[in-house]
Amino acid sequence: MSIPSYYHFKKPTRPMAFGGKKEYYNLEVFTRKAQTKPVQVIYKAKNNFSDFNFSDILNRNIANRGYIYPTPIQDQTIPALLSGRDVVGIANTGSGKTGAFLLPLLEKISHNRNIKALIVAPTRELAVQINDEFRLLSRGMAMNSVVCIGGVSMGGQIQDLRRNPNVVIGTPGRLKDLEQQRLINFGKFSVIVLDEVDRMLDMGFIIDVRYLISKLPQDRQSLGFSATMPANIRSLMGQFLTDPVMVSIPTVTGELNINQDVIRTNGRPKADILHELLLKEGFEKVLVFGRTKHGIDRLEKDLIKRGFKVAAIHGNKSQGQRQRALNAFKNNQLKVLLATDIASRGLDIDDVTHVINYELPESYEDYVHRIGRTARAGKSGTALTFI
Ligand code: AMP
Repeated sequence: MSIPSYYHFKKPTRPMAFGGKKEYYNLEVFTRKAQTKPVQVIYKAKNNFSDFNFSDILNRNIANRGYIYPTPIQDQTIPALLSGRDVVGIANTGSGKTGAFLLPLLEKISHNRNIKALIVAPTRELAVQINDEFRLLSRGMAMNSVVCIGGVSMGGQIQDLRRNPNVVIGTPGRLKDLEQQRLINFGKFSVIVLDEVDRMLDMGFIIDVRYLISKLPQDRQSLGFSATMPANIRSLMGQFLTDPVMVSIPTVTGELNINQDVIRTNGRPKADILHELLLKEGFEKVLVFGRTKHGIDRLEKDLIKRGFKVAAIHGNKSQGQRQRALNAFKNNQLKVLLATDIASRGLDIDDVTHVINYELPESYEDYVHRIGRTARAGKSGTALTFI
C-alpha cells in the first residue's frame, strides 16, 4: 500500500518510527476521527443475484446467508468467472471476495462433478474461514471440501483427500508437502484460486507458491486476489493468469469509520492502562495487538492473573489453540483476544468494538490492516494506539 504523503512528518520534531524502522509518521496518523455518519460507499450493482442464473438451491443458500445484493467485487467478478475467464481482483478482506470466487465455482461444480478446485490462502485461519463459507454456500449441494493446513496432523487430511473432494483449500507449505508425498495431484485441478497473494509474499511463501503453480495443468481457470498490486505481484500474476479480467475495488470503507486515537503511557505500565480500559463501558469485543509471540504470551498471563478472560493467537500456538481462541472470540465467549500481526491476517470477525495497538506495528500497512479488524460492514469502531 502506498502511503499518502500527508502522513509523513515534514520536519519530525519527535520521530515516531514503526517498529524502529525508517518510516516516520505524524501522530496524526493515529488520531483521526471517524466520520460522523458511517461511510456509505455508493455503488450501484449492475447485477442482482438473480441475473447470474444460479441454480435454485444456490440462490436459496445465498438468501439464507443473508446476502441481498452482490458486493462490488461479486458484481464484477461473477459474470467473468461464469464465462470462463481468468480474473485478477484487487480487493481486501471485507469486500466479499470469498463469495466472488466461491459462488461461480459452486455453480460450475453443480453442473459438472468432475471439476476440482484448489484454493490457496496465506494463513490457516483464512483457509478455515473460506471453508466455513464454502460449507454454508454449498449446503444441500452434495459437495465436499478438505482443508489442508499446517499445524495439524496430516492423517485426517490424507483421509479426506482420498474421498476425492471437489474443493481443496490450503496453505502453501502443507499443499506442497502433500504434493511431494504424492498425496495430492495438482494436475487434476481445473480451477485455481490464489487468495491474498500480497500476504502470501509478505509471509515468505513465494517459492512454495511458484512451486504449486508449476504443478498445475495448463488448461485451467485461474483467479488471483490481492489487496495491492506492486511489481512483484503483477509479475507473478502475469505468469499465473491468462488474459485476465481485472477487477479493482477501491478500499474507502473501514478506515473512515474508525475513531483513531493514541493513549500516552507516560511511563506507566501498559498492562495497568490496558486493565483500566478493559473495564470501561463499551469495550465489549477487544482485539489487542502486540509484536512478538513472547510479548503476547506475557500479556496473556498477566491479564489472566488480573481476572480477564482472554486468549491469544500467534505462530507458536498450536492450530487447535488458535482456532479455539478465535472461535471463542467470534462467539463472544471471550471479550479480549491478543494477537500478533501474522496470526490475524485476513480474519473476518464481526462487531470488534476496539482494536488496541499495545505495541506499534511494523509498518503503516500493518497498522491499517490491524485497525481494519474493527468497523466492518459499515459499523463504526475505535482504534487506540499506545505510545
Ligand atoms: P470477505 O471479503 O469474503 O472476507 O467477506 C466479508 C464479509 O462480507 C463476510 O462476513 C461475508 O459473509 C460478507 N458478505 C459477502 N458477500 C456478501 C453480500 N453479497 N452481502 C452481504 N454480506 C456479504
